[in-house]
Amino acid sequence: MKVGIVGAGMVGSAAGFAIVMRGVASEVVFVDRNAALAQAQREDIHHAVPFAQSCKLGAGGYESLQGAGVVILAAGVAQKPGESRLSLLSRNAEVFSEVISQVRTYAPDAILIVASNPVDIMTEVAQRASGLPPERVIGTGTLLDSARFRALLAGHLGIAAHSVHGFVLGEHGDSEVLAWSSARVGAEPLDRIAAQLGVDITESVRAKIDEGVRRAAYRIIEGKGATWYGIGAGLARLVLAIRDDQRAVLTLSVRTPHVAGVDDVAVSLPRVVGAAGVVSTLIPSLDPPEWEALHRSTALLKESAKGLW
Ligand code: ADP
Repeated sequence: MKVGIVGAGMVGSAAGFAIVMRGVASEVVFVDRNAALAQAQREDIHHAVPFAQSCKLGAGGYESLQGAGVVILAAGVAQKPGESRLSLLSRNAEVFSEVISQVRTYAPDAILIVASNPVDIMTEVAQRASGLPPERVIGTGTLLDSARFRALLAGHLGIAAHSVHGFVLGEHGDSEVLAWSSARVGAEPLDRIAAQLGVDITESVRAKIDEGVRRAAYRIIEGKGATWYGIGAGLARLVLAIRDDQRAVLTLSVRTPHVAGVDDVAVSLPRVVGAAGVVSTLIPSLDPPEWEALHRSTALLKESAKGLW
């Protein structure tokens, strides 16, 4: 499958690199308003191909997106240290309106994946601007946050992250909700397995993991200015699910009619992903405080988008 990447900055190039290293695409094309940057990323990643799977690399204008099955939207202005994702909104919304019409002209059949922040609102901006059905405009949402949750919980338990299941739902940002009540190890509830292993899941352990997930982006931005490897790997995982019609369950942001008492909002829930995009949404089992937190997070997003359309 051919994958287009608009925005060849840190996130776009990390996605391209991860896609090449995992052998997810037959062709990757970079588009950026900084044409020299797009070319440089193409050339650098091209040199990784002999160490990975075969893949054609390209860079150019929007016309080079022709034939893409998926286009990743990673264009935008980077989050500054200490800046909230929501404050990025107006700057990035402007960039998007320009980008979407070009993408639709040259890759009308592509599924759009939105990675630019604030990702939930940018997903709705992209869906509205593109006129595509919501299931074909997928925001990365809490894809990475759920991976962080699983990685931290797995480390605490001494179990492989692949065998630890837990969702982060709601906004990709400060108000996101770690769904502790539905976390599983293998197929068993977390508390039961932790007790068997003799590992504490006390309030302070939960608080530490919660902080580790929720504040991860801020910490990484403080140390290196932006985050890119985690989301790049997540994007490659998502493209693979689409390419192979995997029906994988991933937490992703998609414009949804009703979520936790809020109507018509793009927010992350567990979604089943295949070749057609999001093929269904799973309703998680949450305890009442988690539902309340999901409601607050979703309502906050709805409020932040007010006035945009
Ligand atoms: P991030 O860390 O989110 O990847 P970067 O600043 O590294 O942020 O990358 C964002 C990229 O998006 C930059 O390379 C920038 O040139 C590109 N970009 C910004 N506006 C547009 C646009 N209108 N069309 C194409 N690319 C754009």
